[in-house]
Amino acid sequence: MAERKPEVIHDPKELQSRLAELRKQGKKIGLVPTMGALHYGHLSLAIAAKEENDISVVSIFVNPKQFAPNEDFDKYPRILEKDLDLLEQIGVDFAFVPSSSDMYPVGFDANVHVGGVSEILEGSFRPTHFDGVATVVLKLFLITGADTAYFGQKDFQQVAVVRKMVRDLNVPIDIVSCPIIREKDGLALSSRNRYLSEEERKSALILYEALGQAEFMIHSGTRNAAAVKAELRRMIEAVPDAEIDYIEIADPASLIEMENIAGNVVVLLAVRIGKTRLIDNMIVQPK
Ligand code: AMP
Repeated sequence: MAERKPEVIHDPKELQSRLAELRKQGKKIGLVPTMGALHYGHLSLAIAAKEENDISVVSIFVNPKQFAPNEDFDKYPRILEKDLDLLEQIGVDFAFVPSSSDMYPVGFDANVHVGGVSEILEGSFRPTHFDGVATVVLKLFLITGADTAYFGQKDFQQVAVVRKMVRDLNVPIDIVSCPIIREKDGLALSSRNRYLSEEERKSALILYEALGQAEFMIHSGTRNAAAVKAELRRMIEAVPDAEIDYIEIADPASLIEMENIAGNVVVLLAVRIGKTRLIDNMIVQPK
């Protein structure tokens, strides 16, 4: 199945004018923002963008603004040639690969703070993270003028933050959330999984197991969120190398914590396995 190589564009202005031209011709543009080190989770978004649009754009940019100084920005995997090979297999039209100085030239001071949903959960553990995400994502929306942008449910709160930004600022773009892609044994695909040692990889399975347990308890009639969270805490704390950042049961739209499980909920986990911080989530519908 020979596909074309994506056209690689580094300069934001060049991409902006190329895509403006295509939009004038009536082409629909689909955008997938990524930080590279692509896996099938990313590719599932690229496939949706390609299927549902005339032109598909995947951005690959390890965004310094969304990493705190103590985080893994320097060691984050950068494997551009391999990424481009994968995008070629899908037939993505453009790979946008800007440098930091292209995105944040000297004197860059703007900052998008979305408030609300960006300040809880991930926002409390990584206080500058969602400002960095919102700032780069808004830039990508404006550079590409995309009709639709594709995000993974894997980063559940990120989708909520992006949706709120789009609503609050009247950004003319549709946001699509795509399902979490998992390994056969349930571990959610993540570029950070490659940091895990063999032992840690086994311990990392606890995230999916805990989500499954939450689903089981809710389906079996437990309506007290604290009881579910206590059981998940017990399970995770029993695993070597696992340190909990948070376990939350929340309303899927607002991400506000729920005490009594009435309608659909999202169960959200952030757990450090050794030095690697993993997040995962599951929407559960009470029976
Ligand atoms: P990242 O490169 O980590 O910034 O991720 C880029 C996009 O891919 C985000 O919208 C993620 O939510 C999405 N993504 C990452 N992992 C997965 C996965 N396992 N399944 C579905 N989407 C994912």
